[in-house]
Amino acid sequence: MAKQVVATPTLFIDGKWEHASDSKTSQVLNPYDGSVLAEVDEATPDDARRAIAVAKTFFCESDWRDRPIVDRCALLVRFADLLQERKEELAEIETLDTGKTLNESKIDIDDVTTVFRFYAQEARKLALEKHIKGDAIPDSVQSIVVHEPVGVCVLITPWNYPILQLCWKLAPALAVGNVVIMKPSEVTPLSTVYLTRMLVDAGFPPNAVQLLTAKGATIGPILTESEDVDLVSFTGGLGTGRSIIKSCADTVKRCTVELGGKNPNVVFADCDLAWAVDNVITAIFTHSGQVCSAGARLIVEDSIADQLVAGVVERAGQIVMGNGMDPTSETGPLVSAQHLAKVEEYVKIARDEGASILCGGTRPDPAKQPDLAKGYFFLPTVIDRCNRTMSIVQEETFGPILTVERFKDGDEKGAIALANDTKYGLAGGVQTKDQARALRVARQLRHGTIWTNTYGAYTAQAEWGGFGLSGNGRELGSKGLDEYVETKHIWSETKPALMGWFKGGAHM
Ligand code: NAD
Repeated sequence: MAKQVVATPTLFIDGKWEHASDSKTSQVLNPYDGSVLAEVDEATPDDARRAIAVAKTFFCESDWRDRPIVDRCALLVRFADLLQERKEELAEIETLDTGKTLNESKIDIDDVTTVFRFYAQEARKLALEKHIKGDAIPDSVQSIVVHEPVGVCVLITPWNYPILQLCWKLAPALAVGNVVIMKPSEVTPLSTVYLTRMLVDAGFPPNAVQLLTAKGATIGPILTESEDVDLVSFTGGLGTGRSIIKSCADTVKRCTVELGGKNPNVVFADCDLAWAVDNVITAIFTHSGQVCSAGARLIVEDSIADQLVAGVVERAGQIVMGNGMDPTSETGPLVSAQHLAKVEEYVKIARDEGASILCGGTRPDPAKQPDLAKGYFFLPTVIDRCNRTMSIVQEETFGPILTVERFKDGDEKGAIALANDTKYGLAGGVQTKDQARALRVARQLRHGTIWTNTYGAYTAQAEWGGFGLSGNGRELGSKGLDEYVETKHIWSETKPALMGWFKGGAHM
């Protein structure tokens, strides 16, 4: 095998790099050509139990959670600096592992650098004690609200944005003094292994971070059911999220889930056509559609629909697919053979449901693009004549598949009804030159993030999360910090007196 992309062993428990206790490993493949990138250790249930025990002991017995907030925030800033210093190497690992372009990987690293810097500031606000004064509080009483870390936090992440999704959790969790156990996707664990080394290099106490590379089904229930785990933060698919919520129920632990989406992009007829085409293809085909917030449902006003769809089909055919390491590639492959098979199955279902495949719908022709033949590539696909009852419109395909639905000219309410007709509610777009309408429609959409006259941007300062089946929590912003914080009220009597509730004991 060629040189490992990250060094083994890949389990980080009790401050040491270790192999799995049964020595089992699994291969990590490059989605561009199916070659083996690395052999990672597969943690066993016993390894997971040990990581939990170490994390619990460290949380309870070390000074980590009681350190001055400024000290922990300084570590966050140091880590942000390291992200920039090691950006090239980290971006290469992410690209080799996920297939996304190097440019996208670098953007992810820049984004999470700002997330660490943001929480280094935001966490300081929580360190302030809040002294409550009021009519019902006697002068002799000090009533104080304080904030504390939740404890041992399990962070479970998906394969589409391994660095980004982990760091959205890691930065707030560590800022307030929690201890974390990271469980990256078995499909793309490599950047998390590298990030764990960076956390130690930045000066975080080794026992504040444990890393378990493993299949979700093997150790997931150990982590989510444990009485010694205080919080589970999960990003991934709906089915897994549901089972995690159930397995957290017995111990009543905090559990936040960030799940899938089937996101509408509503385009009104007053948009400039070329601009709208660019908006629509960017919203759906970036990272080959493997984006939870991808604008997968085009909902377009009748009078421009045919022209817009024709423009989208033309531009979709021009997208340059290739090796993410090649700067000329505009997008990469799907992440795995398994995922490719799932996307192909969705296209078949769409055909069976009577939709019309206008372009794509298959893998690239190996005779025309032999360089893509070994990878998990799928052509940008536009599916017209869709309606809200079709599963291709309702289910998240997580691939480069755009469905088209139309609404009657001027029927703003109809467009809103279509856009809200989904079990999910993660994100959506509203494209119109009429700014008042853009905001009016944005307010009516039941989705966690809305972009008007653009698509896809986010900031560390604003909350991210879903309505409906897209999730139950928020990441980023001040609420993203609250997820990792316990709030305690201390009522402190400075002049103790008999409470006088019960009348006995007069002889004492
Ligand atoms: P997935 O649900 O298959 O896996 C996610 C993680 O859960 C992996 O680490 C996996 O090993 C682990 N896991 C699997 N079974 C488990 C179990 N029983 N207990 C504990 N952990 C378990 O998701 P995926 O295919 O890796 O990611 C794609 C999904 O993630 C899509 O649905 C996408 O929309 C969603 N996503 C959502 C957001 C968001 O912000 N809402 C962001 C990115 C991705």
